[in-house]
Amino acid sequence: MRRALASLVAALAICTLANPGPATSAPHVPVIVIDPGHSRSIHAIDRQTGLRVDDYENEPEMRDVFSVARLVTARLRSLGYRVVMTKTSLNQRRNLAQRARIANAAHADLAISIHDQAGRNGGIGFRTGNNIVYYQSVGDYRVTPRGHHVVFRNHVVARLSKRYAAEFARARRAVQHARMKVRGNVGYDLGSRGLAPGDIWIVQLLAHMPWIYNEAGGNSRGHVGLTAADRRTYAASLVAGVEACIPPPRRA
Ligand SMILES: [Zn+2]
Repeated sequence: MRRALASLVAALAICTLANPGPATSAPHVPVIVIDPGHSRSIHAIDRQTGLRVDDYENEPEMRDVFSVARLVTARLRSLGYRVVMTKTSLNQRRNLAQRARIANAAHADLAISIHDQAGRNGGIGFRTGNNIVYYQSVGDYRVTPRGHHVVFRNHVVARLSKRYAAEFARARRAVQHARMKVRGNVGYDLGSRGLAPGDIWIVQLLAHMPWIYNEAGGNSRGHVGLTAADRRTYAASLVAGVEACIPPPRRA
């Protein structure tokens, strides 16, 4: 009996060693989700909300922002953050609900979308404009094909999102040497573009964490799309934004 008890105690000790349980003193490693805008064309209805969560390719934006996303991811990892990308290859098909759910499942502390406005027609110069930082506000909404309003209602996330947007605008302004607009909603009805009506980007609406949605000019001088130098500048501005919101766990 005593021998059995002794071996039980020994077994428990081994279990304790092998499985220390929740380490309350271990520092939290911040989780950052990086969302490169656009996907090969995809049509979908989100089962949970009934929203249309389609996405579409928008070259050369899709290629450029994916490249920016990889630069941001590499730098953040080198600073010690845990980073999850919503798309891990350029041509991966991802609808907008899937992107939000990836961030929710990762329990991200912060998510950022990366977009720009490129193109032969309608493109905006990287040095000239379209620098916008969007945050989530209570009351922002989108409408399903059946007319149901899906409304953003998380006050805690909205407060933090607004604070983070101000940090992103400051950081991006300093790195890009450009004027930044900060917006708590899209500013017009997305239904006018043939998207689900409403005024918040779907990824932000479905997210459980602050989600900063970034826009920028997408044409470098004399180019359709961004040069490597401007992609690096955009990436550096976003890394600075993340660092301003959530300090890195250790210095690289
Ligand atoms: Zn875009």
